[in-house]
Amino acid sequence: MEAVATNFGINDALKQLGVKAINEGTSTGSNNFSNGPLIESYSPVDGALIASVKSTTKEDYEKAMTSATKAFKSWRLMPAPQRGEIVRQFGEKLREKKEALGKLVSYEMGKSYQEGLGEVQEMIDICDFAVGLSRQLHGLTMHSERPGHRMYEQYHPLGIVGIISAFNFPVAVWSWNTALAWICGDVCIWKPSEKTPICGIACQNIIAEVLKDNDLPEGISCLINGDYKVGEMMTKDTRVPLVSATGSTRMGKIVAKKVAGRLGKSLLELGGNNAIIVTPDADIKMTVIGAVFGAVGTCGQRCTSTRRLIIHESIYEQVKNAVADAYKQLRIGNPLDENNHVGPLIDTDAVEMYKHALEKVIDEGGKVVVEGGVLSGEGYESGCYVKPAIAEAQNDFEIVQHETFAPVLYLLKYTGDVENAIDIQNGVAQGLSSAIMTNNLREAERFLSHAGSDCGIANVNIGTSGAEIGGAFGGEKETGGGRESGSDAWKIYMRRQTNTINYTTELPLAQGIKFDL
Ligand code: NAD
Repeated sequence: MEAVATNFGINDALKQLGVKAINEGTSTGSNNFSNGPLIESYSPVDGALIASVKSTTKEDYEKAMTSATKAFKSWRLMPAPQRGEIVRQFGEKLREKKEALGKLVSYEMGKSYQEGLGEVQEMIDICDFAVGLSRQLHGLTMHSERPGHRMYEQYHPLGIVGIISAFNFPVAVWSWNTALAWICGDVCIWKPSEKTPICGIACQNIIAEVLKDNDLPEGISCLINGDYKVGEMMTKDTRVPLVSATGSTRMGKIVAKKVAGRLGKSLLELGGNNAIIVTPDADIKMTVIGAVFGAVGTCGQRCTSTRRLIIHESIYEQVKNAVADAYKQLRIGNPLDENNHVGPLIDTDAVEMYKHALEKVIDEGGKVVVEGGVLSGEGYESGCYVKPAIAEAQNDFEIVQHETFAPVLYLLKYTGDVENAIDIQNGVAQGLSSAIMTNNLREAERFLSHAGSDCGIANVNIGTSGAEIGGAFGGEKETGGGRESGSDAWKIYMRRQTNTINYTTELPLAQGIKFDL
C-alpha cells in the first residue's frame, strides 16, 4: 500500500479488512468493478491518504442492479430463519474484525477508537436482533364478517432496498438497514458517504466473504460509490421500492421529493437539534456528564449530539460553571489515542461551518462561555481539530435554530414551570432526540406525555446521544419521520398483504351486498 499513515496499527487493520491502495468501488458480492474517477479518502486524524476508491458510473450501476434483481429472485425464496443464519454468520465475522473495523472507523471518520468499537458493536447487536426476528415476521389474524371465511395478513419482501448513508456513522447505519432488510428477504444496494468510502469497502469485503462461504448469489449486497449523483441513480430508479436515506435535512428534502415523485417509499433519518432540559430537581453531576458527552462526543458530529442546554434560572449559574469547568479537562487530539476525549471534525469545510456558527452566535447577541478556536501545530496538521465551545444564546437566534455539525453548545435559560422549558425544547424545526434531567416524577412524566417532547427519542436522566438498537430509532418534523433498527422498524422493509380465504361452497359478499344470478 502506498501513502498510508502508520500510526496506531492502521496498516494492519486495513490489511485485515482487505482494503487496497486503489479499490473497485462497485461490487456485487465477490464481483468488484468500477470505471468512474477516483475518490481519494484522506484521514481527518493526520491528513494522510488512506486509500482510493473508483466511483460508480451509470453502466456500473446497471450491472449492480442486474445482479441485485437476479439475486432477489432466489433470496426471497429462502426461508426467513435460513436468511437469519446468514446474518448470524455476518455478526460472527464482525466479532472477528471488530478491532480492525473500529480502528478504520476512527481513522477515516475521526471519532474516538472507543466510539469506533461501539459502532461495530451496534452492528453486531443488530445482527443478533435480526437473527431472532427472522422467526418472528408475523402478521395478524382477524375474524371475518362472512361465515366460513378466514382473514389474515402477511408480510412479503419488498425487493431491492437502496441505502444512502452519512459520514458520521459510516458502518452502523448500513447494518441497521441491511440486517433487517436481509432477514425480510430483500437485497440491498448501498451508497456510503463519499467522505468515508473506505469503511464501505471494508464492510462489503466482510459480507462478500460470508456470501461466498455460503455459495449465495452475488447481488444480495451491492456497493456503489460516489457523490449525490450516484445517490440519485437510486432515488430515480423505479426498481428500488424503498430508499433509506440518512444525512442532512437538505438532502432528505430532495430525496423525499424524488422518491415520492415515482410513488416509492422512503425512510428518512435526517438532522437533529437536540436539547437537554435541566430542572431545579436535576442531579447536577449526572447532568454535567450527560451534557458534555452529548456535546463533544464524536466532536459534536452525531445526529443526536446535544446542541442546546435548557437550564432553569435558579440553577443556571451553577450548571453553566460546572459544565464550563468540565470542558477545561477535555483533551483534544488523535482519536486513536485513548487518552484523548475529542478527535477532529471530518474535514476543513466542517471547520468553516464551526467557525461560522461561533461568529454568528455572537453577531446575534450571544455571549461566549467557553471560547472555541481551530488548533494548529504538532498533532493538529490535518487542520480539522477544534476546541469545543459554549455560548449563551436565545432559542430564536437563527444559528440556534440550525444544526451545526460541530461541538458548539448553546445555553438557554428558562423561568417558571417545566412547560416553558418544553416549549423551548420543541421550538425548533427538527425533532430527533431530547432529554430531561430531573428527579421530580411530575416533571419527568410531563416531559414524556403527549403534551411533552415532540421528538422521536425522549430520555429521562440520560443525555440525548447514544441509543440502543432494541428501540426504533428516528425523529419527527424535519428529522424525516423514519424509524430504523429495533421494535417493529422491520415492517418498512416489507409489503403487507391481506388475505381472505373462503372455505365454504357459498360466495357471500362483504357488507351483506346481494348479487344474485
Ligand atoms: P449529507 O446530507 O451531506 O450526505 C448524506 C448522504 O446523502 C451522502 O451519502 C451523500 O452523498 C448523499 N446525498 C446528498 N445529496 C443527495 C441527493 N440529492 N440525492 C441522493 N443522495 C444524496 O450528510 P452528511 O454531512 O454526510 O451527514 C451529516 C448529517 O446527517 C447531519 O445532518 C446528521 O444529523 C445527519 N444524520 C442523521 C442521522 C439520523 O439517524 N437521523 C444519522 C446520522 C447522520
